Amino acid sequence: MKTKGIIQRLLLLSLVLSIISLEAETKSKMQKQVFGKTEDGQSVDLYTLKNKNGVEARITNYGATLVSLRVPDREGKIDDVLLGYDTLEGYVQDKAYFGATVGRYSNRIAHGKFVLDGATYTLALNNGPNTLHGGLKGFNKHVWQTEDVSSNAGQSLALTYESKDGEEGYPGTLSVKVAYTLTDNNDLRIEYAATTDKDTVINLTNHSYFNLAGQGNGDILNHQLLLRANRFTPVDESLIPTGELRPVSNTPFDFTKMTVIGARIDQDDQQLKFGKGYDHNWVLDHEKNGELEMAAQAYSPSSGRMLEVWTTEPGVQFYTGNFLDGTVRGKGGKAYERRSAFCLETQHFPDSPNHPSFPSTILRKGQHFKSTTIYRLSVRKP
Ligand code: BGC
Repeated sequence: MKTKGIIQRLLLLSLVLSIISLEAETKSKMQKQVFGKTEDGQSVDLYTLKNKNGVEARITNYGATLVSLRVPDREGKIDDVLLGYDTLEGYVQDKAYFGATVGRYSNRIAHGKFVLDGATYTLALNNGPNTLHGGLKGFNKHVWQTEDVSSNAGQSLALTYESKDGEEGYPGTLSVKVAYTLTDNNDLRIEYAATTDKDTVINLTNHSYFNLAGQGNGDILNHQLLLRANRFTPVDESLIPTGELRPVSNTPFDFTKMTVIGARIDQDDQQLKFGKGYDHNWVLDHEKNGELEMAAQAYSPSSGRMLEVWTTEPGVQFYTGNFLDGTVRGKGGKAYERRSAFCLETQHFPDSPNHPSFPSTILRKGQHFKSTTIYRLSVRKP
């Protein structure tokens, strides 16, 4: 009798253990497929992160790029809410930074020059008189190393890249890590870490273009947006901040309450003219510096999909795809027209190395850079 009882218990225990390990295995089994080869022969892969709700995020190690994000609408219909390409070739040719990890310095540096510790650094000009998004060959055009770092939090892919001292004109060898984690709450968490062997500047972001009605499904002018920001950084005609932190109240830049994106976008306003729409940095109303707080909410009334953006960064570039013009063909051959997506690029302010009054983007030798942004997807009833 006693032995039977023990055997039964052992059987039960082994059943429980195998269920736990099966669960752990499904959690950590990330799908990986070949995406292609670069011109210089480096192999590039495509990784699929999944959660229990059928949400899927695809990432390629070419540029540590977020390729797709498939999420349900309010009826449960799953669609991809990110602009992008079906092939590696698309990302190699891309000039719009679809889904890219942007670095070493996202956004603009005026006249491609800055001074650090008394030395002047000169960068390539790739955006009129300025440097944009890391220069001629930014982090988005390199092949990154990968590691599956899935845990109980969800499937997770870590990507690393070493940017050499002097690459694109920046000082210091920078070791960068970006980890994407998809949780069962439908959070896509992006964590950045970096160290350098010489003082340098750093500003990393993810440049995903969202259309919450589904990529290639019209423009985003009917989407609604809330930005937790009472000020923004006005720019000159080449989109370099003037240094002013201007209150948004009584301007088309006031998104402190949910507002339709298209409601004021074509108003007669000098700042909107400079950006050809919204292409500006908002100063987030963070209660504490460097804490993870909500920055933005975007909502598509037609699909019911809602995106919340949480970040430790002090700013967010809200860009309404003003420079898309339908010439780029994306996923499924869709032509991406002007304003067919929006970006919420969490970041330090543009041109900070030339604005000592802005939060600093200097990373000193020995310091550990850390930054987190979450894209949280949900649905709302009309
Ligand atoms: C910039 C835009 C630019 C876009 C794509 C945004 O971060 O602010 O001006 O066109 O990225 O490069």
